[in-house]
Amino acid sequence: MNHHISDHPSLKPYDISNYSGLRGKNFYEIDRALQRAVARYSENFAPDHKAAMEAHIKGYGELVGGVLDELTEKSHKEGKYGEVVKFDRTGKRIDQIVYSTEQTQSRKISYDYGVVNLDFHSSWKHPFPNIHRYALTYLMNLNGEGGVACPLAMTDGIIYALKQIGTDRQKEKYLPLVAGEGSASHFMAGQYVTERVGGSNVLANRTVAKKAENGKWILVGEKWFCSNPGDLWVTTAKIEGTNTIGMFLVPRIKEDGELNGHHILRKKDIIGSRGKLTVEIIYDNVEAEEFGRPSHGIVNLIKYIIKISRIHVGLGACGNARRGVMEAIEYAKWRTAYGKKVNQFSSYARSLAEMQIFQTAMTFVNFRSVDLVEKEHLAAEVLIPLLKYKSSSQASWITQKAILCLGGNGIIGDFSPLPRLHNDSIINETWEGTHLIVTDHCLHALQKNKVFSAYCELVETLSKDAKSYPALNYANSVFESKFSELKNILENESKEWREINRVYIADLTYGVVALAEYLEQASFDLKTKKESIYSDFANGYAELFQLGADAPRKKDGVFLNPESLEAIIQY
Ligand SMILES: Cc1cc2nc3c(=O)[nH]c(=O)nc-3n(C[C@H](O)[C@H](O)[C@H](O)COP(=O)(O)OP(=O)(O)OC[C@H]3O[C@@H](n4cnc5c(N)ncnc54)[C@H](O)[C@@H]3O)c2cc1C
Repeated sequence: MNHHISDHPSLKPYDISNYSGLRGKNFYEIDRALQRAVARYSENFAPDHKAAMEAHIKGYGELVGGVLDELTEKSHKEGKYGEVVKFDRTGKRIDQIVYSTEQTQSRKISYDYGVVNLDFHSSWKHPFPNIHRYALTYLMNLNGEGGVACPLAMTDGIIYALKQIGTDRQKEKYLPLVAGEGSASHFMAGQYVTERVGGSNVLANRTVAKKAENGKWILVGEKWFCSNPGDLWVTTAKIEGTNTIGMFLVPRIKEDGELNGHHILRKKDIIGSRGKLTVEIIYDNVEAEEFGRPSHGIVNLIKYIIKISRIHVGLGACGNARRGVMEAIEYAKWRTAYGKKVNQFSSYARSLAEMQIFQTAMTFVNFRSVDLVEKEHLAAEVLIPLLKYKSSSQASWITQKAILCLGGNGIIGDFSPLPRLHNDSIINETWEGTHLIVTDHCLHALQKNKVFSAYCELVETLSKDAKSYPALNYANSVFESKFSELKNILENESKEWREINRVYIADLTYGVVALAEYLEQASFDLKTKKESIYSDFANGYAELFQLGADAPRKKDGVFLNPESLEAIIQY
């Protein structure tokens, strides 16, 4: 044996020796659904606004596919996760989180780019509407949580709430910190509600708030899940002597420069979203400010804070899932088995197409939803909780399928971002409301006549032109039968039946709106063109919705049509 080990016959180059993944691509430029959403929701913008917005989103697409992808990978390695530093060198309590250089750089790049605060940038001369804001959120999530997405969601929620219910003094004091151009606080905001006794039932909070003579509130208690502990957070507590939950703002450092009265107990050992820390905190006479009217704590929490986080979970899940689909499709172009590329096996191609169809539907519906939120359309009351539930659970399904598409390499943490994306997706299913809680909120909204009418009007408007196009006959017939099933359930089934079947009802509500969305996308094209790729998406989605993802595929459906199957995968 006098040859070098790399000459060993078993180490010869093989099919994926030169596989380099997706880094270096502009993730906006390779995303047709996102580009279409951006183009369609900005149809009425002034031309200079539209052009500036597209350039800004495209610029972020390059960062996400390049330096941010690299920093995210580097900051998710042992030794690079954040740590709690409880004391300084003299033994004084500081309860501070220290992140790796890669993590802080990653936060700074996105913050300075304006993903949460472009409207605070002096150089930005246009509005910062939802389509722009959430296109950036979606792109950021292509790298998974990354330690940035959850903090972004919470910071966005605080900014929104400050604008809506903050006093003039609170706006003046805190907006420059959490949203100001050049602020050194890069998404360092939190929302602490959950206690040991439970997160779903906020009324069970045991933390007590007592009003001090100076108008501030003193809180004693604990919070059990505190993600992204930083400069400022929103919290809840029971107002002393009552059963009312108030909402408060807590700065980490008091006006006199001292650490505000709290202790971080420990960092939680979480399975995902590890780029940022989640800790447990004791409130030991922490000084807080009332945020909105104290008696409106729960209402304000839902209306301003949780609403924004749930929107972020929906869009974030779309981003997670999209990266899963991208990784699987890319890998399948390289990997061979039994003498051919794995994507040449029809069963494998079917799996890729299903992922693509589900993910693209999520993207269109989530962007529809944020447009409706902006227009204050009542259907958003259904869509916000619905999409929080459905997008996060589908992202877990899609990222798991993507892992399977890569075989053993799918499981390996330094081969692709898939294991991290999958773990992040699982977290998204729970925080800001478990499935059973969020589908309850969805059912509650559906049971309000005005809200359900708004939902019906939405899906009817989206689907109305589809009847004119024979290519959409099958999708349209599934839409009509599922929509009438939903109406029948809400009109005729008992309260008990609806309660126990709330997840089924949410799935049905989602399927109807997702299919209506595809019908609209296809009809939009068919008005001016002979064919639309969205006809295949609509018919494919209809099949998955009608028969289920695991059922045999229809003999005359898109999955058994090689051209359609290929077009969906290559989309
Ligand atoms: C990584 C991570 C980060 C988090 N970060 C934060 C944070 O920053 N701030 C914060 O406040 N919280 C945070 N959370 C907490 C999260 O919001 C809660 O875990 C969640 O709301 C559920 O609360 P719980 O864990 O106490 O479960 P429980 O409320 O005890 O629920 C247990 C089970 O009972 C079910 N259940 C409860 N009520 C009902 C009902 N009425 N009907 C049917 N089923 C029901 C739930 O669906 C669940 O399956 C975080 C969680 C995780 C995992």
